[in-house]
Amino acid sequence: MLFKDVIKRNGFSTLHNISCIFSGVVMTTPKTRIVIIGGGAGGLELATRLGHKLGRKQKAEITLVDRNNSHLWKPLLHEVATGSLDDGVDALSYLAHASNHHFNFQLGTLTNIDRDGKKITLAEIRDESNDLLVAERELTYNILVMALGSQSNDFGTAGVKENCIFLDNPQQAHRFHNEMLNLFLKYSANQCAGEKVNIAIVGGGATGVELSAELYNAVKQFNSYGFESLNSDALNVTLVEAGERILPVLPPRISSAAHQELTKLGVKVLTKTMVTSADKHGLNTKDGELIKASLMVWAAGIKAPDFMKDIGGLETNRINQLVVKPTLQTTLDAYVFAIGDCASCPKKEGGFVPPRAQSAHQMASRCYDNILALLNEKPLKEYVYKDHGSLVSLSKFSTVGSLMGNLMRGSMMVEGRIARVAYISLYRMHQVALHGYIKTGLMMLVGGINRVIRPRLKLH
Ligand SMILES: Cc1cc2nc3c(=O)[nH]c(=O)nc-3n(C[C@H](O)[C@H](O)[C@H](O)COP(=O)(O)OP(=O)(O)OC[C@H]3O[C@@H](n4cnc5c(N)ncnc54)[C@H](O)[C@@H]3O)c2cc1C
Repeated sequence: MLFKDVIKRNGFSTLHNISCIFSGVVMTTPKTRIVIIGGGAGGLELATRLGHKLGRKQKAEITLVDRNNSHLWKPLLHEVATGSLDDGVDALSYLAHASNHHFNFQLGTLTNIDRDGKKITLAEIRDESNDLLVAERELTYNILVMALGSQSNDFGTAGVKENCIFLDNPQQAHRFHNEMLNLFLKYSANQCAGEKVNIAIVGGGATGVELSAELYNAVKQFNSYGFESLNSDALNVTLVEAGERILPVLPPRISSAAHQELTKLGVKVLTKTMVTSADKHGLNTKDGELIKASLMVWAAGIKAPDFMKDIGGLETNRINQLVVKPTLQTTLDAYVFAIGDCASCPKKEGGFVPPRAQSAHQMASRCYDNILALLNEKPLKEYVYKDHGSLVSLSKFSTVGSLMGNLMRGSMMVEGRIARVAYISLYRMHQVALHGYIKTGLMMLVGGINRVIRPRLKLH
């Protein structure tokens, strides 16, 4: 029987029991309830560590809530979009992970927080035919951690929602993948029409840059699978950035190295170009130009979801992030923490912690320590952001970025193999935090075998 059928037949109480049975925890006495919303780069690491420390010995009940059944590390989404990565193989089931790491998992979408009643509301769950599976429900908490990430910010630009794809979750990455395959098929069948495959990406940050390069790798692989007419000349990728240069948060020499690499691949990089609207023909710029595109991606900024604005009477900023103190507690409630992209956390030297996977990873660690301190009535420590550098993968073609370390002052530019290893190590750190060293080693081995026995690109 499918999991959704179990829910449908028995309702929420069974779902709750299932999660308890799956997690191997039988609750007999009331204990501290720690609820984490969002099982992403930060939330899943936190749930795993708290599960081991508190859940295993039943010192507290840890519940992770996510709107999806499985976890895929978000920085891999552009690879899912182009087919370089099959998330059917790489995604992690929350239920199975919870069962192995002594916490409960609840499938659900947070809609509200009632801080007086110390409870949260999860939306009802319906199936594809709109049949009700699980009614709206509430969960009580003693400590709540908000880790629900961010989404693309279209800044209200006309036509973007209707015509562009955002790369915020696996479903959107699949949509991109399907539309890309359709365009490739159409091109191969009608090449004599002289029309290229026009794809436009708005936003010269890591997502836009990495996706542009991945597209050229996808075409190369397709060509090797027999789509002979499909090659880099058939592809017309335009990367549009409003600022002076792509990768604006990285040092200028890295931006310019990435710019050169992309241009070499065939990407048309347009800087100082403001998109004012999108329609079914393409992107319209402030200068009155039309950038023709059949497939458009918007990756030009982030915000926390709109329903987060002032949620539960908590303080939020203009992009709906929860404002937190350096201890990661929200400014108005010491028992509500926020980590990762949905948190607005001040940096000691001024400014705010950037929305990155390494920030979410570090915050999960500090939040873990601080929750234990709170439970043991010890002083909480401040989170200090450690910038280890930023790396951008230009698919199989190159990797560029900067590394920061204790041995050097400032940043050091890296390229090629060293940069590639450092880039991959960020994901490995996430895997180690979730599975430990031995299982991560085995996963690397399986990944290596898969590279030999499976196609290099997801073709369906
Ligand atoms: C294509 C792409 C490439 C990137 N590349 C890099 C990179 O190279 N390096 C880097 O440092 N960063 C990169 N990032 C940014 C990085 O992915 C994020 O900063 C990081 O994932 C944030 O972690 P998080 O835990 O805050 O949120 P996420 O990892 O986004 O997790 C949020 C979780 O919350 C769940 N959720 C959301 N809303 C709800 C709700 N209402 N109820 C229940 N659950 C909910 C989601 O399903 C998700 O599982 C990239 C992002 C993208 C999109």
